[in-house]
Amino acid sequence: MKNSRIAIFVLMLTALLSLSACSNRDAPPVYRSQILAFGTIVELSLFDVSAAEGDKLSSDIRNMMEAFHHRWHAWENGPLLALNHALSQSGHSRLSADDAALIAQSLTLAKASGGLFHPALGKLIALWGFHSNELPQSPPSKQAIDATLAMLPALDQISVDSNSNEIYNRSGKPVYFDLGGFAKGVIIDRSIEVLRQHGVNNAIVNAGGDLRAIGAAGERPWRIGIRHPRDFGVFASLTIKEDESVFTSGDYERYFEYEGRRYHHIIDPRSGAPADSVASVTVLHHDGATADAAATALFIAGTQQWQRVAKAMGIEHVMIIDKNNKVLITPELAQRMEYEVSPPPIIEIHALP
Ligand code: ADP
Ligand code: MG
Repeated sequence: MKNSRIAIFVLMLTALLSLSACSNRDAPPVYRSQILAFGTIVELSLFDVSAAEGDKLSSDIRNMMEAFHHRWHAWENGPLLALNHALSQSGHSRLSADDAALIAQSLTLAKASGGLFHPALGKLIALWGFHSNELPQSPPSKQAIDATLAMLPALDQISVDSNSNEIYNRSGKPVYFDLGGFAKGVIIDRSIEVLRQHGVNNAIVNAGGDLRAIGAAGERPWRIGIRHPRDFGVFASLTIKEDESVFTSGDYERYFEYEGRRYHHIIDPRSGAPADSVASVTVLHHDGATADAAATALFIAGTQQWQRVAKAMGIEHVMIIDKNNKVLITPELAQRMEYEVSPPPIIEIHALP
């Protein structure tokens, strides 16, 4: 179900993207491929790349994504579960330099977000039933939520020694990393690195609407779409400048309904329940990992706190769509955004403090 919805959306985005690619008839074509990775369709758009080169790059990127998916899978038996076990049992584990850097990056983003992006909240995600390929049927009890919250480790009690690549859990509580809130950003950043290493400087890596775009499609800048949180259309579109990531967190990605209420997969670590104030948050930032973590954090921050949390995370460009389709947006992004819905939305422009 989710994949078919995403496929429709990717096709729509492809149509949008094609606008920029086809407008110059003499321009070299854009190579496109679709990779099925971590349950999402990832679309590569590579400008001025031969089919043979494109196929080789797609296959390299797919292999990298699969290895990453296995390495960091939050609930299937594998290396992350082993790490969680070691941290919970002995409070300590040694990682590869790469893995230690990734955990350290997640903790840095978490601290900047004031703990709203909390990569060690795996037990809560599992309690809500989202550590499964199937969607849950009903929410957990209040008692179960409180008991799980009480066992959530404090972020400042988890640390990485960047010299020895050792990770320590001094919280006295079990640690369950779940990097789902920024993994897509990390893997998109790595894909862009692979492309650049092979001399490809004009490309988009798009994982179901979360993307990073570099360069341009020849003379024309890349143009991307942002999904409507309440139907499968495009809500707004945007022209990309040189190297930008655009990530959206929404209450429509993974959710179930119970007794008329929607319960989704972005959990507020303060309440232990799905964050409940807006429909989606889009962040535009240089790197994908920061944009992804920030979209998750700002979604939780909601209409009252997003400006403060954006500032703390070094984010300048945000668009929030609230539950009535009203747009709250930062000034520069407001200048660049083109709305694809009719009638156009009500827009409030908010400068960051
Ligand atoms: P999507 O993956 O739909 O684009 P997100 O980037 O917001 O959306 O990631 C949601 C995933 O992040 C959840 O499935 C879960 O694995 C994880 N997650 C949920 N709540 C949080 C949180 N408060 N902090 C960090 N990660 C979270
Ligand atoms: Mg995210």
